[in-house]
Amino acid sequence: MDAHRTAEFARTQVVGLTVLVAAFNEADALPLLHPRLQAVLDGLAQDGLHGRILYVDDGSRDATWSVLQSIAARDPRVALLRLSRNFGKEAALTAGLDHVGDDAVLILDADGQDPPELIPQFVAHWRDGYDDVHGTRQAREGETWAKRATAHAFYRVIGRLSRTPVPADTGDFRLLSPRAVAALRQLRERNRFMKGLFGWVGFNQVSVPYVRAPRAAGATKFDFWKLWNFAIEGITGFSTAPLRMATYVGLLTALLAFVYAAWIIVKAMAWGDPVAGWPTMMAVILFLGGVQLIALGTIGEYLGRLYEEAKQRPLYLVDAWRPARGVSSGQV
Ligand code: UDP
Ligand code: MG
Repeated sequence: MDAHRTAEFARTQVVGLTVLVAAFNEADALPLLHPRLQAVLDGLAQDGLHGRILYVDDGSRDATWSVLQSIAARDPRVALLRLSRNFGKEAALTAGLDHVGDDAVLILDADGQDPPELIPQFVAHWRDGYDDVHGTRQAREGETWAKRATAHAFYRVIGRLSRTPVPADTGDFRLLSPRAVAALRQLRERNRFMKGLFGWVGFNQVSVPYVRAPRAAGATKFDFWKLWNFAIEGITGFSTAPLRMATYVGLLTALLAFVYAAWIIVKAMAWGDPVAGWPTMMAVILFLGGVQLIALGTIGEYLGRLYEEAKQRPLYLVDAWRPARGVSSGQV
């Protein structure tokens, strides 16, 4: 670790840091975020670390793109990428990671919920040799009770089911070393559950506790239905436990059916069978039907993902790419 640590420190002297921000309809929040980022990057520059910012406009329908263009016109460290439509945050981050060159990357939300002021602390961990420094939420301000409760439940479930670690209460706010970014770039699956992909990559990980601030401006892009589907994505993408569960539910049902059948036969032989049991018949048929449909649905979830994967479509399409002007080396 020590040799690696010194090597990594030496590398931070030449490699830069790109702050990657995915933005979807964030015209109100970006002008608040940018000056904070600038201040942080100025501080890092004094430490000899070249900072850049890459904003990815995820097909916004408001003034986000023109806001970003005026930011880039005034700040030579800013690079811009616009996707052809709204592909979702995970795809937008993937697009960003594909465009950062050899830099280390710091991923941050556009709404100011992830405080940029923590970046120097993340960088210090990176210089200590960590490849994945992630922020873990100690508290969430300005979020509803229901959101906190469902998020809590989600992290517990995925933590149990996933074969690779998914740290609890950890979002996309993190710093990735160049080799972690390179590794992540190789994962081209369509089911892009980033929290799981980060864990899959591995390397040296460390978590930094922080308090998640309320949104600076605008509204959340994730309603309950989106989050629910996101949770299903995460579970099916990183675990086949539901398929295994279907097998066990089937076995249990078969066992119950055998016991019940034996009981009916014994009963009929001992006491005869005076009236046909319509209610029991209905109950059994409905129960079996329900179990079968759930199992089929589970298989369908995985089959649907196979279908998406088989199509091999690109993960995103680029509409416009504007590299940073102020930096000569690297892609950004
Ligand atoms: N975002 C995005 N594409 C989308 C939805 C969201 O790039 O389709 C960005 C959004 O602009 C923000 C980040 O993802 O920077 C987190 O979104 P949001 O704050 O709405 O999520 P929350 O914090 O409520 O979970
Ligand atoms: Mg937010």
